[in-house]
Amino acid sequence: MILFWHRRDPRTRDNAGLAAAARAATADDPVVPVFVYDADLLGTMGARQRAFLLRHVSALEDRYRELGSDLVVRAGEPGEVLPSLAAEYGADAVFYNEHYRAAERNRQRRVEDALAGAGVETDARTDLVLVDPGRLERSYPNHSQFHDDWQQVPKREPYPEPDADALADVSDGKTVPEPDADIDLPPAGYRAARQRYDDFLDVGITSYNDTRDDLPRAVEAPTQAVSRMSPYLSTGAIGIRELWAGAGDVYDAVTGGERRNVDKYRYELSWREQMYHLLYYNPDLAVSNYKSFPNEIAWRDDDAAFEAWTAGETGYPLVDAGMRQLNQEGYIHNRPRQVVASFLTKHLLIDWRRGARYFTKQLIDHDYASNHGGWQWTASTGTDSVDVRIFDPVSQAAKYDDGARFIREYVPELEDVPAGKVIDWPTLSRRERETLAPEYAHPIVGRNEGYERAQRVFEEALGKR
Ligand SMILES: Cc1cc2nc3c(=O)[nH]c(=O)nc-3n(C[C@H](O)[C@H](O)[C@H](O)COP(=O)(O)OP(=O)(O)OC[C@H]3O[C@@H](n4cnc5c(N)ncnc54)[C@H](O)[C@@H]3O)c2cc1C
Repeated sequence: MILFWHRRDPRTRDNAGLAAAARAATADDPVVPVFVYDADLLGTMGARQRAFLLRHVSALEDRYRELGSDLVVRAGEPGEVLPSLAAEYGADAVFYNEHYRAAERNRQRRVEDALAGAGVETDARTDLVLVDPGRLERSYPNHSQFHDDWQQVPKREPYPEPDADALADVSDGKTVPEPDADIDLPPAGYRAARQRYDDFLDVGITSYNDTRDDLPRAVEAPTQAVSRMSPYLSTGAIGIRELWAGAGDVYDAVTGGERRNVDKYRYELSWREQMYHLLYYNPDLAVSNYKSFPNEIAWRDDDAAFEAWTAGETGYPLVDAGMRQLNQEGYIHNRPRQVVASFLTKHLLIDWRRGARYFTKQLIDHDYASNHGGWQWTASTGTDSVDVRIFDPVSQAAKYDDGARFIREYVPELEDVPAGKVIDWPTLSRRERETLAPEYAHPIVGRNEGYERAQRVFEEALGKR
């Protein structure tokens, strides 16, 4: 027998390691699919994302049963569980997919050592990304140079689902714990992911570049303005090659402006690839500044401001709308995602690691590479080619939330305030704010004061002052 160890890849389609295991399978040595319920690892995830992942695993079990097999589920440390399962099933090889997070790599090494000790072979595949980071340079000064190299590497087609014949005729009575039914989640599993993507390919991708920053549109048609594929991608419910191929098919079928929109979507996927590339070569991405100059920055230890930020009570309407979207849905649109991260690290001068930890707990689409890479980029400690980038939360709202539709959706205290006043809220007089919306917060830091302080502190760290 051959074991396939499902990690964060609860799908049978477009799964590199599973496809490789199926290719190696014979009639006498079919594949036994396995999921190890590792409470320690699952405990590091936010409750929402953990529940979503476990729902995918239940859907995966159903799929294996449709194929005449089953998912073997065991609880414990993979380094102990996998050798014991290999002995139980007489397996002489275990296949799985690579991960780049240091804790996952260490876990994988423990598994490999334990299996080697038991005389069982291991086979690890690249599945998470379209281009293996090892095929590219170690570092790039900016995204466009990364993209130049990355786009030249040919991309694979999606891997097929294994034939039923390649799978062992096993039956396993065990399953993962039923996640908390009260947690409101999108539909789970590969089919739901595929459906979401098909809908976006039908309506959305050919206007993506025009709508991706349009916040009113994101309220009116949330899954058309952007794809909302990140929850599925980050939990492995769908493979990245499938997304690439789907976008490629639409690209081939359209022309002109529509093509440019599709291309923009593919370009955005390259950001995700760059974040994995970054993590691959910088395993301490979540804890250490990527650039060294920010090591000089004395971040402010302001618990009250941090609490106001997490609660969406900063008195900056776009920041508060974004944080409330995050708290309510476990998702935050990319535009406010950047604005809230910039506000915390620049206007409030609070350490990006605190913000990243909060996101980790809340996000249903938390991705170790994209989250920490995204925080570092926004905090100007990361790969951005600009030394200090500060998003002005007022002009961002004016530019991207015309009519304050997004803000009003999440900040009902501002429902009856004219749109122009909502946008300018932090710059109005206290008296005017109290007249317009007495329930809503006053700004916890001045717009110019926060901006200038950040500018000064970063420039001092850069040795420019
Ligand atoms: C501070 C911060 C934290 C972030 N944390 C995460 C995270 O934990 N998980 C996560 O998936 N993304 C993260 N991002 C990136 C981005 O905000 C989300 O990928 C995007 O908003 C997801 O929504 P979508 O699927 O509708 O995106 P779409 O606009 O439809 O984009 C399609 C896909 O492209 C990829 N993508 C787009 N932009 C980026 C980007 N800047 N970086 C990496 N991948 C990108 C994602 O896989 C996304 O699903 C973060 C960005 C910032 C600034």
